[in-house]
Amino acid sequence: MIRYLGLKAYGKINLGLDVLRKREDGYHDVRMIMQTVSLYDKIDIYLKETPGIEIVTNLFYLPVNENNLVYKAAKLLMDEFHVTQGVTIHLKKFIPVSAGMAGGSSDAASVLFGVNKMFKLGLTRQELMERGVKIGADVPYCIMRGTALSEGIGEILTPLPDMPQCQVLIAKPGVSVSTKFVYDNLDAAGLKESDHPDIDGMVAAIKSRDIYQVSARLGNVLETVTIPEYPVIAQIKERMKEAGAVNALMSGSGPTVFGIFTSPLAAEKAYEDMRYGEGKTLAKQVYLTNFYNTREVTNEQ
Ligand code: ATP
Repeated sequence: MIRYLGLKAYGKINLGLDVLRKREDGYHDVRMIMQTVSLYDKIDIYLKETPGIEIVTNLFYLPVNENNLVYKAAKLLMDEFHVTQGVTIHLKKFIPVSAGMAGGSSDAASVLFGVNKMFKLGLTRQELMERGVKIGADVPYCIMRGTALSEGIGEILTPLPDMPQCQVLIAKPGVSVSTKFVYDNLDAAGLKESDHPDIDGMVAAIKSRDIYQVSARLGNVLETVTIPEYPVIAQIKERMKEAGAVNALMSGSGPTVFGIFTSPLAAEKAYEDMRYGEGKTLAKQVYLTNFYNTREVTNEQ
């Protein structure tokens, strides 16, 4: 019997994000290039003999009830399989919250994986992904991980070759952006041709493993909504490029910005600047990380 599982829930960035149209059901059809990064939340799942789902977290402002995505994930599987025992989940957040890095979705993905394993439910990764989309559009991708093309509302996934390794500087300004606000304010029909990133070109660049071609194609249509609202995002992008980033982009619905560096030294200097130097006023949370391309999930991963 498994009584404890320690897992890592990795965050993602979008190398490309395009919105095709708003659907009748309110969701949007998207085309996104997803990339896992090495920044993760720590999730510890403990078996509890009494029924119920208990959540303990290091962030006081996160819900610890059914509104937490880890709760939803555990409940989904435990209800379906009539699990009579319970779980206590310790969630230690490092991925910025409401930031466009799918932190909550990744936590849910890890809990689906963990509950399946702890109670020997026997679901395949594909079956977990089918259940995950009920919790959130990005959850199936967070189960898959690595570099991938994401289509539909996010549930149609095509794995892509691993990205060449490089440094990724992540900076979140001190504002929180609601994904709903951004999508509600996106005028999908009124976008200019130039607002749309070249997703097919990006896929080709990834297949040729050319980091410079990939960087040249970074694009996120949601910047058209979030940047006018929070100009600091554009300032962070500029600062990263001045510091030697090959390119920089807002991730997801924002406000997190990432910069891609091919020089470890330049990346380190840019990190120091944004964390402790003159760039400090622009960003509240700063991390120097890299691409994470391991798709296999083991304990402690
Ligand atoms: P995405 O990139 O998918 O848009 P995000 O970074 O914008 O994700 P999250 O950090 O995943 O957003 O979630 C933010 C919202 O979800 C907050 O309102 C928060 O209270 C709620 N939430 C519920 N569960 C979690 C969780 N486990 N981690 C973070 N936020 C959670």
